[in-house]
Amino acid sequence: MKVGVLALQGAFIEHEKMLKSLGAETVEIRQLPDIDGIDALVLPGGESTTVGKLLKDLKLLEPLKQKIEDGLPVFGTCAGEILLAEKIDGKASDHLATMPIDVKRNAYGRQLGSFNTTAEFNGIGKVPMCFIRAPYITLVGDGVEVLAEVDGKIVAARYKNQLAISFHPEISGDSSIHRFFLEHV
Ligand code: GLN
Repeated sequence: MKVGVLALQGAFIEHEKMLKSLGAETVEIRQLPDIDGIDALVLPGGESTTVGKLLKDLKLLEPLKQKIEDGLPVFGTCAGEILLAEKIDGKASDHLATMPIDVKRNAYGRQLGSFNTTAEFNGIGKVPMCFIRAPYITLVGDGVEVLAEVDGKIVAARYKNQLAISFHPEISGDSSIHRFFLEHV
């Protein structure tokens, strides 16, 4: 399985290490030819406005959106979740916008919004969750399965071939969510 990891900005190396530890082959996505032949895609955390702009500038946005709509399994973490959301803070998104969810950016406050916790993840059990200026999901559309909640806020969800989570599993040392993605989505 060849997993493309978007490598424009943010925490991509940690994702690659985790995917490789699970036996997947990884390829860094930096320009259009890199997406040829990938079996799955990871959108790491970072700054969604920056990554969204780079996706447009590099002419990656539309081809990736098309591949996701055609069924390419995709896993977005934190800023990656924001890139997948159809709506951001109640407004239509012009990023990938392939997943019928509404996200609230920097939902835990801008400065002190980083924390670690442990919570139940459907189909896995308790997992460590590291939040860094994270979004949470405020609304889910038809067909979206909620996979985890923290303090009553949705922090993980799945829709068809798309998995979006608010936290950073790549730095927790626990590869269970990456394994879940490789096995289920
Ligand atoms: N706050 C970032 C954003 O809005 C996301 C932070 C992250 O990916 N850790 O894009």
